[in-house]
Amino acid sequence: MEIISAQYIISSATYKQCPPAENPEYAFIGRSNVGKSSLINLLTGQVNLAKTSATPGKTKLINHFEIKSHPQAVKGGGKGVPGGRQAVKWNIADLPGYGYAATVSQKARNNWGNMIESYIRKRENLVCLFVLIDSRHTPQAIDLEFINQLGEWQTPFVLVFTKTDKNKPGATTRNVELFIHTLLQTWEQAPPYYLTSAVKRMGQKEILDYISGLNTSFTKL
Ligand code: GDP
Repeated sequence: MEIISAQYIISSATYKQCPPAENPEYAFIGRSNVGKSSLINLLTGQVNLAKTSATPGKTKLINHFEIKSHPQAVKGGGKGVPGGRQAVKWNIADLPGYGYAATVSQKARNNWGNMIESYIRKRENLVCLFVLIDSRHTPQAIDLEFINQLGEWQTPFVLVFTKTDKNKPGATTRNVELFIHTLLQTWEQAPPYYLTSAVKRMGQKEILDYISGLNTSFTKL
């Protein structure tokens, strides 16, 4: 996939305020500070499309971006390649992260829960949820709980292990394998997963190819 443009659309406090459900949509979620903004910037090839947060967990809105892309990079302007240069539009939804500072009230946590549940269960054009996991850590209860909740909601998701440059490769692999092993204690099958590093610009192509494949099977609503 080749990105043509990526544009911020709107920030919404509820799923009802989200833009019309026309384009295939991919949502990104994870614990505060997991590297979500950096990943969105990496995928879209922008320096500062999603703001990398100075204050973890501050954004409590759903941020929408519209991406225009070519399904594949074609040499020579794509002449004679059927559909090769036809631009495709799709959305990124940047969801507010979980894992709060102790100072955040119960009311604010409930609001987050209601907003996320409505968005995930009701958003008609949501094709896949990308759940980001910090590859520096062994499996964390908060991530596992969120993923198990997705199982109950039957939400299609994939995992993205972020910040893989931070550990030695062996330690990253151990954490990833342990995470998948832990999931397989309650899940029949492990979800697809990707390893990324915003610093080393790793994982971008693989995730964009995955999205490109899903875009082709998206039926217009
Ligand atoms: P968000 O709160 O989930 O949106 O996370 P950010 O993208 O704002 O990243 C949080 C912090 O982690 C920032 O200081 C980033 O520079 C850093 N960070 C994000 N991704 C990576 C990565 O792949 N490698 C390294 N070394 N640092 C990262």
